[in-house]
Amino acid sequence: MLNCDCLFCKIIEGKIPSSKVYEDENMLVFRDIAPKAKVHLLAVPKTHFALLSQADGEGQAMLAHIFKKIPQIAADNGCENGYRLVVNQGENAGQTVMHLHVHILGGQPLEW
Ligand code: 5GP
Ligand code: ZN
Repeated sequence: MLNCDCLFCKIIEGKIPSSKVYEDENMLVFRDIAPKAKVHLLAVPKTHFALLSQADGEGQAMLAHIFKKIPQIAADNGCENGYRLVVNQGENAGQTVMHLHVHILGGQPLEW
């Protein structure tokens, strides 16, 4: 279920524009508005939950689907030579959008 106060739910619904690179019934992938690497994509499940600890059965199935799809999406978007996945969880990680998302960072060598 979507959440009317959530930025990424609004992007999923098309109420806020985004640069989409992939979409299916379970997930949306779009470009981060403030990229931290040459390629910086955000992969989001089409159901609203903030944290891995809050994923129900549907959310867990969407996460499995997202991680299955990411290699091809990354390869199709300039990450043939490798990429990094980041999933910030909560305040100490600096999570700013409380809709679970996987950062896909690549297109260049990355510092650790
Ligand atoms: P977090 O810090 O929660 O892990 O990541 C949230 C990400 O969402 C940040 O990298 C930020 O740049 C991105 N972001 C915030 N607002 C928007 C927006 O309106 N559109 C897009 N495409 N990305 C956004
Ligand atoms: Zn949401």
